[in-house]
Amino acid sequence: MTYAAPIQRLVTELSKLPGIGNRTAQRLAFHILRSSDEEAGALAGAIVEVKERIGHCEVCFNLAEGPRCRICEDDRRDSSVICVVEDPSDVIPLERMHEYRGRYHVLGGALSPIDGVDADDLRIAELLRRVSAPDSEIREVVLATNPTTTGEATALHIADGLRELAPSVTVTRLASGLPVGSDLEYADEVTLGRAFVGRRAV
Ligand SMILES: [Zn+2]
Repeated sequence: MTYAAPIQRLVTELSKLPGIGNRTAQRLAFHILRSSDEEAGALAGAIVEVKERIGHCEVCFNLAEGPRCRICEDDRRDSSVICVVEDPSDVIPLERMHEYRGRYHVLGGALSPIDGVDADDLRIAELLRRVSAPDSEIREVVLATNPTTTGEATALHIADGLRELAPSVTVTRLASGLPVGSDLEYADEVTLGRAFVGRRAV
């Protein structure tokens, strides 16, 4: 059966979300239809607000409300270490382990020529600039890209660039213990903490 056009539109939009198939999209659409005007309005408003108010930090490209993220604005953080991650969602588990007090750099993905993602599509040049800047205090760069094929390729690419541009900076990679082929986002704090402490030079 076909739904009225507005319902179909909602189902179509919901089914574009990751992990949401057509059946789940229909279930969510009917849930929204059953909910009060206030509840549905709050959901719609939250989506509009997050798109309006959240952008990327001008320093590290983490998510930020305003020009800089809370980590870059925090003077108590150690400016001599930068932890490089693929996505803003990777910062959350790293912060949760309470092991790390340095800064971050969010690449915006990983190198994947098959999918058309080249070095220029990521914030790699920005990272190299940040590390090799004349006033840079950075002594260590921790490559915390995901332990996947694309994450490893990205780490190696960055390590090569850093060796060339900033040879005095120590470059480390998270130790094993992380499940191979999975995302940082899904690692528990203990595993992630152990991998962080055991990071090695690359
Ligand atoms: Zn930042």
